[in-house]
Amino acid sequence: MNTTNYDIVILGGGCAGMQLMHQLIHHAKYKGESILILDADKTYLQSKSWCFWHSSNVHPYQSIFNTTWNSISIGFPEGNQEKIIEPYRYSFIKSETFFDFHFDEIKQHPNIDYTNDVVTHVEKNGSQFVIHTNSGIVSTTALYSSFWNQQSVASETNLFLKQQFFGWEIYTEQPVFKATAATLMDFSIEQAEGVTFAYVLPYSENHALIEITGFCAEAYSIDFFEDALKKYIQKNWNCPYTILKTEHASIPMTNFVFKRFTREGAIAIGTAAGMVKPTTGYAFNRIYRDSVLLANHFFNKEVPAEFTHTRFKFYDRLLLQLLKYHPNKALFILMQLFRKVSYQHVLRFLDEDSTLFQEALLFAKLPKKDFIKQLF
Ligand SMILES: Cc1cc2nc3c(=O)[nH]c(=O)nc-3n(C[C@H](O)[C@H](O)[C@H](O)COP(=O)(O)OP(=O)(O)OC[C@H]3O[C@@H](n4cnc5c(N)ncnc54)[C@H](O)[C@@H]3O)c2cc1C
Repeated sequence: MNTTNYDIVILGGGCAGMQLMHQLIHHAKYKGESILILDADKTYLQSKSWCFWHSSNVHPYQSIFNTTWNSISIGFPEGNQEKIIEPYRYSFIKSETFFDFHFDEIKQHPNIDYTNDVVTHVEKNGSQFVIHTNSGIVSTTALYSSFWNQQSVASETNLFLKQQFFGWEIYTEQPVFKATAATLMDFSIEQAEGVTFAYVLPYSENHALIEITGFCAEAYSIDFFEDALKKYIQKNWNCPYTILKTEHASIPMTNFVFKRFTREGAIAIGTAAGMVKPTTGYAFNRIYRDSVLLANHFFNKEVPAEFTHTRFKFYDRLLLQLLKYHPNKALFILMQLFRKVSYQHVLRFLDEDSTLFQEALLFAKLPKKDFIKQLF
């Protein structure tokens, strides 16, 4: 069987694979190096909604934002608190928009190939990676991989929860939604086994994505989600609606130490590289920053360093422990965080952009006893 050689091979053409490709081909030192992106299924047909907060200056993907909000709302049993988040904004990119944008780039670059082949195994021969697929063999010296195995990660740590969510994109005849703010967390819903909240992205007065999210080790049933969603819609908007789409997924929440390199020595990217913040499930901006870094390493012929562990990993572990073993306390802490600390400070902290001093001020507003207990 013939082997086709590429300068760069990216396993997985999802969020991380596409962002890396984008950074590579827009790098000042890019000279038309050949790139192959291999993805087993046409994930780009799946509907995901990527949201993230960012400073109001230009965001690298601003040209494809579908919606942007200047305010966010948090729901408490006593009512909602909507606040402007300047200098941040909360923005949304539909997965269809994201993939259309990147597939257009692939079309414009004859040196980039994209295939839906299935990777069977990867070997390393000296500096060459040999990738066996169901339709042939390819080789490269620069291999990036977004493949990971959830089962083996879950079996290697005792702290593995899932951020599970189920939502409907709905259309209402009457203009019922207040499209000025996205609801990040509405804790006023009935709590299930883990911390549970509703998430609302109002695209217009008639059109919104409404999701029920739960942080739990066990899987919630579809019946549970549908029931909670119907009740939430009825309580808040009580009007007829049409379901346009369903989104149902699970994101890992774990203290597992993801490594920079895979077992075969490929450079891990995306979820496989621990880019999903374990306590929030957000990854889009972290993947962006990592892709910029990896493109620089590639063109400067540098080997990326193994990840170092910051204090944020420690904070994440404390919160994960509370979420797993004391969900009621975790719920109280999350609500206190948004009640007592400005939304901007919370967002900066979740972005791992805060200083130690700012963190001390933030922790001072929370029930310290629960955190201290988790230390032991
Ligand atoms: C439904 C959903 C909504 C999310 N929303 C947000 C959000 O709003 N904001 C945010 O910041 N983060 C969000 N995330 C988290 C994170 O941004 C995404 O999971 C992101 O897609 C991770 O990027 P990735 O490239 O690692 O994985 P993916 O985008 O899932 O891409 C991995 C790709 O690899 C392919 N693949 C995997 N294994 C194989 C194999 N063995 N052979 C061939 N191909 C393979 C898959 O087909 C897939 O296309 C969300 C996650 C989910 C699941």
